Amino acid sequence: TTESNETEPPVIELTDVSFGYTSMPVVEDVSVSIDAGEYVAVVGPNGSGKSTLMQLLLGLLDPDSGTAQLFGVDATAFDDGARVGYVAQGAGTSREMPITVREVVKMGRFPHVGFGRLSAADWRIVDRAIDTVGMSAFADRRITQLSGGQRQRAFIARALAGEADLLVLDEPTVGVDTESVDAFYGLLESLHDDGITVLLIEHDLQAVTEHAKRVICLNREIYFDGPSAEFTDSAALARAFGTGARSLTGGNS
Ligand code: ADP
Repeated sequence: TTESNETEPPVIELTDVSFGYTSMPVVEDVSVSIDAGEYVAVVGPNGSGKSTLMQLLLGLLDPDSGTAQLFGVDATAFDDGARVGYVAQGAGTSREMPITVREVVKMGRFPHVGFGRLSAADWRIVDRAIDTVGMSAFADRRITQLSGGQRQRAFIARALAGEADLLVLDEPTVGVDTESVDAFYGLLESLHDDGITVLLIEHDLQAVTEHAKRVICLNREIYFDGPSAEFTDSAALARAFGTGARSLTGGNS
């Protein structure tokens, strides 16, 4: 909402961040800066620190050393939760909440209305968010009756209803049927086109190189950070995932 981009701090800025659950660091000396509007994927083998990194940049964990900033503010002190839409790992597989899509998306307005009732304008924002993710036909369907991909869309709509300008997704296509994965990435692309900053953890290297614009490959330290097209041919891919990994990204069609 600022006129000039030049004065805007990066959306995410990690400087020399190290963190360990024990004395062993699982994230070491990581520096990353992500600007508004970027579309970035974090990849790395199991246990390479991806989820930990996400929690550090969201301020859910405090670095042992270094600094983590969100929108120019210390991440652990950041309190404008509505700006950040976080779709947790397994959001698409949860069967716990027997509530409708519209009720899930409505929750996105809570940071704006407190415990107050939603106004007609709030409900319009809710319905627009549901429409944006292509779920209007399912708005009154219970979340438990949906496919993994549809549930994932509902949780993205919740973030959009909160008017988040940063969307963080942890392995969003887990539990999404393969036919829906392309449509899911189509949705992320259109949100990226609308100027939303998209950051995701993804295990599917082929999807990452096809869709995200920038790849950060993490294996405790950063092995690669650059345009996704360059990642496919980088030594970092084999270094992080082993030599078999090259085939994961496919013979490019
Ligand atoms: P990834 O998301 O890449 O699979 P994680 O960030 O989940 O990696 O884990 C990185 C390392 O930290 C792993 O060795 C994991 O076992 C360890 N770890 C993750 N969470 C915890 C925790 N809450 N307590 C102790 N160790 C953890």
